[in-house]
Parts: sequence; structure tokens; C-alpha cells
Amino acid sequence: MTDQPKGLFKTAISDPAVRLAALGGALVGAVLVLAVVLLVGGPEKAPAPPAAAQESQVAKIDAPPPQHVRQPVPTLPSRAEPVTGAAPLPAPVDPAPPPVAPAPAPAPAPAMESYPDLPVARVETTPPGAAPTVDQGPAKPEAPATPPPDMVGPPPADKPMIAIVIDDMGVDQRRSARAMKLPAKVTLSFLPYSRDLKAQAAEARKLGHEIMLHVAMEPESPEADPGPNVLLTGVPEQELLTNLRWNLEQMDGYAGINNHMGSRFTRDLAGMRTVMAELKERGLFFLDSVTSRDSVGAKTAKEAGVAYATRDVFIDHKDDEAFVRKQLERLEAKARKHGSAIAIGHPRDITLRALKTWLPKVQAAGFELVGASRLLHRPAPSPAQFSGTSG
Ligand SMILES: [Zn+2]
Repeated sequence: MTDQPKGLFKTAISDPAVRLAALGGALVGAVLVLAVVLLVGGPEKAPAPPAAAQESQVAKIDAPPPQHVRQPVPTLPSRAEPVTGAAPLPAPVDPAPPPVAPAPAPAPAPAMESYPDLPVARVETTPPGAAPTVDQGPAKPEAPATPPPDMVGPPPADKPMIAIVIDDMGVDQRRSARAMKLPAKVTLSFLPYSRDLKAQAAEARKLGHEIMLHVAMEPESPEADPGPNVLLTGVPEQELLTNLRWNLEQMDGYAGINNHMGSRFTRDLAGMRTVMAELKERGLFFLDSVTSRDSVGAKTAKEAGVAYATRDVFIDHKDDEAFVRKQLERLEAKARKHGSAIAIGHPRDITLRALKTWLPKVQAAGFELVGASRLLHRPAPSPAQFSGTSG
């Protein structure tokens, strides 16, 4: 009663009851003000920088389906953005999966990275008995000490086999639907950030096609836009894995992936080793699109014991139907010569038109159309697998 409170209310208020009431009032007021601030200003302010940045990145890329060829310069989602690092990485469980952007007008045919017609890196299979010391280089000391398994090619068949893989599926839904209606079974490789990805992939499977996942990897050209969550060189392994897993988890029902673009990434030994370890873990195969003649896709797949194949012919990197038909002839020649061949094309008008007439013809000519998974080099079964299970 006699002691004056020390502190804020010392001077003005002497009655303890009044003091208490005043204190309470002030508290309630403060809470109210805080609530109002949160309601009005909060949502955009608090999580803003990362979310907005990511969102705009996705929206930018997503709005026009990836025109890999020439994008307006400032939108490049090239290395600069994800690498700037400090910001949170796109998590696999990203609350905002890619197709959030408001539906854009149906887009023109997605263009592709304009590749030169690169020679195929036909990879020698390890000669049996050769010294198995493969690349225990200083680069990756934790590389497994066990030698890579021998790989065996596809089993021989009566007819020369051809796999037609259509990349970039899913973004241009109209043309993707046309690709699904091609008059033969083909392999359809879907971009993970396509809208309605799962429904489209399910439809493709229902129609009897093999499906694959088309994972965006860093291109050499800064003008090429590979899309969101692209696999980049020079980032921490954990960041690379986060992006890779995001890609791999966008759909299921596929047995392998191939690279979308990637003329830079597929040359990167460390990055490709990380990818292969994850593919091995998940039992997925790798089809090297061979967008760089220096791709280490086959090499790293072999090292890791991942089943793999390499693309033989691109059929439509020139906008010319006669060119596509000529490439299809080259494909037949290669299949005849090697027993099998893999072509990659895209859901473009010229390609779809050419394939529609070519597919029945090539079968009549004695070729067998197969899914890409049929033409893999696989780790040879170990001797242990041969013994003991015949009964
Ligand atoms: Zn592609």
C-alpha cells in the first residue's frame, strides 16, 4: 500500500486495482494491434521473399510452355537464380507445384533445344577380365571400391528393333494428345512440370504406350529455358538431390528418365554421378538424349550399375517434314546395322504427320517397334543369381 510501484506506472497510478486494469488494457490493446497488423500486412510480408520469388519463377516459366529456343532474355532461370543459394531451396514437397499459374493461351508447339545432329557415343562394354580399376580418381574418394558390373546389351531379336521416344510431352496438351494417338506404341517422355501430368501420363499408359520422365538438365546456352527445378552444375549436392527428387516424384508408373536439354549438365561427372546414384536407388534407367557429344551419361550409368541406353537419331531438329522423313530413313539404316536404334522426336506437327504414315510402314517393312526400356544395357546378372533357383 505504501510502496509505490517501481516502473512504468509509478508516477500516474497509485491504486493497485487501477494499475492492474490499466496494465491489462494495455496488453489487450497490444494484442489487438498485433492481430490487425498480421491480418492486413502479414501474409504477403512474412513469407514473401522466397515464395514470391519462386512463384514468379514458376509462373514465368510455366506460362508459355518451355520455348527452349528463344526466351525473352530477362526471364532466364539459368544458374544465377537457384545458385544464389541463401534462399530456401525448392523442396520436394513444394507447396506450390509448378502448374499454379493461370492458364495461358494454348501455346504453339514447344520448340526444342536446337541440337546439332550429334554423333552417338556408342559405349564399349567393359571387356571381360579387363582391369576393373575404373576411375577411383581423386575427384570422388568415396566412390565405391567395387568394380562396376559388366553391362549386357538388349537380347538379340529376330527383327531389327526401333524405339521412338517423343520428348517434351505434357506441356502442349493438344499435341501431346495427338502423339498418344499415333498408330503404334511409342515411348512418351513427360516433362515433370506439365499441367495435369498424372492424368496425361495415365492416359498414355492406358493407350499402351511406355512412359518416361523427361528431366530438365542445365543447357549450355543461357538462352535456352529448361523450365523449373532444372538440374544444375556447380550447386551443393544436397540442392541437386532436392531438385532431382522433386522431378522424380511428380508422377509414377515410369521406369526411366531421359534428359531434357542438359548439354552442360550431362558433361558434369560429379553431377551425373549424383543422379545415377539416385536412379540406382530407385531402380530407374537412364536414356541419354546425347545433347552433348561429351555426355558422361553412359559412363556414369555403367559405373553405378544403372541400366541405360543412348539416343541414336534426333528426327526433328529442323522444321521440315522432308528432313524428318530423311532422319527416319537413317534410323532404319542404323537399326538394320546394329540390330536396334533409338530415335527421339517431339510433339510437333511435322513430326506427328511424318510418324503417322511412317509407323505402319516401318512395321510392314520388317522392323519391330519397341519401348525404350527394351533396348537397355543392363548390369549382367552376377553368377550368384544363376545358381540355385531352378527348382
Ligand atoms: Zn526435351
